[in-house]
Amino acid sequence: MRILDLTLANIRAMDTEAIVIRIITPSGDMDSAVDSPALLNFNDLLVAIRDVMPEATVTAFEYEDEVGDRITVRSDEELKAMLSYYFNTMNEQRINGLLPDPLQIFPRAGKTPGIRNIHGLKVNTRPNPANDCTHSIPDSMTNNSLKKSSAELKRILTNGQINAQDIHYQEQLGHGNGGTVYKAYHLQGKRVLAVKVIPLDITVELQKQIMSELEILYKCDSPYIITFFSAFFVENRISICTEFMDGGSLDVYKRIPEHVLGRIAVAVVKGLTYLWSLKILHRDVKPSNMLVNTRGQVKLCDFGVSTQLVNSIAKTYVGTNAYMAPERISGEQYGIHADVWSLGISLMELALGMFPYPQPLQLLQCIVDEDPPVFPVGQFSEKFVNFITQCMRRQPKERPAPNNLMDHSFIAQFNDGNAEVVSMWVCRCLEERRALQAQGHV
Ligand code: ATP
Ligand code: MG
Repeated sequence: MRILDLTLANIRAMDTEAIVIRIITPSGDMDSAVDSPALLNFNDLLVAIRDVMPEATVTAFEYEDEVGDRITVRSDEELKAMLSYYFNTMNEQRINGLLPDPLQIFPRAGKTPGIRNIHGLKVNTRPNPANDCTHSIPDSMTNNSLKKSSAELKRILTNGQINAQDIHYQEQLGHGNGGTVYKAYHLQGKRVLAVKVIPLDITVELQKQIMSELEILYKCDSPYIITFFSAFFVENRISICTEFMDGGSLDVYKRIPEHVLGRIAVAVVKGLTYLWSLKILHRDVKPSNMLVNTRGQVKLCDFGVSTQLVNSIAKTYVGTNAYMAPERISGEQYGIHADVWSLGISLMELALGMFPYPQPLQLLQCIVDEDPPVFPVGQFSEKFVNFITQCMRRQPKERPAPNNLMDHSFIAQFNDGNAEVVSMWVCRCLEERRALQAQGHV
């Protein structure tokens, strides 16, 4: 076995050259392209292997040197040595006029079955090709199923695990009842994140429960729902890493004109319909949980998938949730219709540029006792007024059901996929805000 060293040339190649890793498993092999091998770390690769072999407890993997000896990889250092060795052999193969083989790795499974990676992600495996002994990368590289699995592995490698030390915090984006949201940069994934940090003094058991309840977020896949990347506990704080939206939340925008609000409403209704289809109630629909970006996308965040997290935050919660439906305030059973109420009151606030109930709202009881607020006459279209009136009926069953929401003429008329309208409006508002800041007004 020869001694491996990281030569400068190999480090440079690792930075620039994509490689194919072939995970050899008893049930078949899986090839995956890795664009930046220099960014690959041992844990990320292990997570991906565990996804291919969910039934085994993989703690390490091996590769073969030129004489067929197996070398075990258990750390980032050993992974680097493996990559260095691989780049050497790739160069030699090229010099000899051969196409390089993929980097073959052999997962080492422990005896205890059943450990799954917490992400619950699946990677498609492909059957062991009959011609595995030949140097046949080009064929497999053009194979669609390979492309799909590569894309999925890449997704896992870049999204699946975010370590606290790889996050560089930038500015504070806002502060809510539960915690503080920061803009941050994730070095490995090379992307900007929004990280919500919530202090929670709870037991390790409860922490585990929260982590498992959050697993469903990895499965949420909708253009109207904020993308979830990862969550982790450090001491008594949970950090929840999601996609960053450069337009921020809608609560800081002034009156939104109806043709823009209509497109926003379409996205919010689609986002809610998606969550309901997964049997998730949002439970906290309000303008600060509707995010926009300069591409004109509108996405929902902060929905209550983890009962334990919601309960733990509730213990330190101060203030009132004025967007709650009357039946929730009264402590009755509630369902989808409560989200519909909150949708109505949120859109009403965004259209008026102010909260529709008299402020300060001292007693939530008035939401239960009094008639829902009405729009001033003549300022808004009949369709919009009708939509809000329907959503804010006091009797939950009288509010529109999910399929009726999409069919309502106000939603239908703006369901044209025109993101440009929202994009232009967000860009203009951000521009105005910047100008005011420059003049020292904000
Ligand atoms: P509450 O805690 O009562 O729900 P909130 O929604 O305002 O109130 P947070 O959820 O902590 O509080 O969010 C604080 C602010 O951070 C938001 O108002 C929003 O402006 C900003 N923010 C949150 N998530 C993102 C994100 N993904 N991208 C950009 N900005 C965000
Ligand atoms: Mg929020």
